[in-house]
Amino acid sequence: MPDNPGAREDPYISVVVPVYNEEENLALLHQRLTVTLEKITSRYEIIMVDDGSQDGSLGLITKLAEQDPHVKFISFTRNFGHESATTAGLDFASGDAVVIIDADLQDPPEVIEEMVTRWREGYEVVYGKRRGRRKEPVTKKLSSFLFYRLMRKIADVDVPLDTGDFRLIDRKMVEHFHKLRERNRFIRLEIAWLGGRTKEVLYDREPRHAGKTKYNFSKRLRLSIDGIVSFSAFPLRFMSYIGFIIFFLSIAAILVVLVQKLFFDIQIPGYAFLVISLFALGGVQILLLGFLGEYIARIYKEVQSRPHYLIDLMGGFDGEKDGRETLS
Ligand code: UDP
Ligand code: MG
Repeated sequence: MPDNPGAREDPYISVVVPVYNEEENLALLHQRLTVTLEKITSRYEIIMVDDGSQDGSLGLITKLAEQDPHVKFISFTRNFGHESATTAGLDFASGDAVVIIDADLQDPPEVIEEMVTRWREGYEVVYGKRRGRRKEPVTKKLSSFLFYRLMRKIADVDVPLDTGDFRLIDRKMVEHFHKLRERNRFIRLEIAWLGGRTKEVLYDREPRHAGKTKYNFSKRLRLSIDGIVSFSAFPLRFMSYIGFIIFFLSIAAILVVLVQKLFFDIQIPGYAFLVISLFALGGVQILLLGFLGEYIARIYKEVQSRPHYLIDLMGGFDGEKDGRETLS
């Protein structure tokens, strides 16, 4: 397997952290990241992306950036969402390898060391795979379990199971990722879509260090629908399958009725069949129109082509990437 050119000697490593109301986690996160990264290389940056936090996160981040030249930050004008925050971090990261990690310490920073080892062996995407999930609600475990298995079945990409965004990506793959600028992002699936040489690293997912999850049921559902619609035309194809089956069944039913009437002279009460087929067809039509709506909504968003995020403040970056800037 070929070496990754950037992995030789003293690689430059970027760590991207999306942050939304994580004031209680930032100090410990910074400390643990620093200890781990110092072991690996002296050349690294920690990019904290403040996704419009309403608590003291931004204040803490700017203070960290003042104290530690490795820390850089981007802050948004409002909450644009986890996927947008991660996108911004990837846009501004300049490392030979970029690691994405959650701010809440569910992804142990120490695992980065093993990820870098695998990267040095030549793997271009090294993703963290959860060995087990402790103390998470059963509903969440079950829905993730089902979602990723469903995605594997119907999506056009090979989705690694039991993984989040915690992963290391080689520079080459980051450059490829920049070519994907769709509006409804689902980064872990997009990275799977990129392909490349991939390797997993097993880790124990910790419970959140402090604070509450920033994802509620509807945000999670939204993300799942985005994932399915972005990566699979299955619901659209499913529409034509259903349409075909219903058409076939109705032809068969007509034939049955005709045969009974013409050859056996059996009278069949018509209304039961009518009522049932009315409801069945009505239901199917509404469902399928819903699917169609999902795709149309997506086209609408793509046509609008709004930027993924708007930057209010930046700090710690050098050169032309400093100052107020808007990147889509
Ligand atoms: N996050 C973000 N913007 C949001 C929601 C979440 O930047 O709108 C960040 C959050 O601060 C954390 C990461 O995304 O670093 C994952 O969020 P969380 O831990 O709440 O999700 P969970 O682990 O519960 O799936
Ligand atoms: Mg979390």
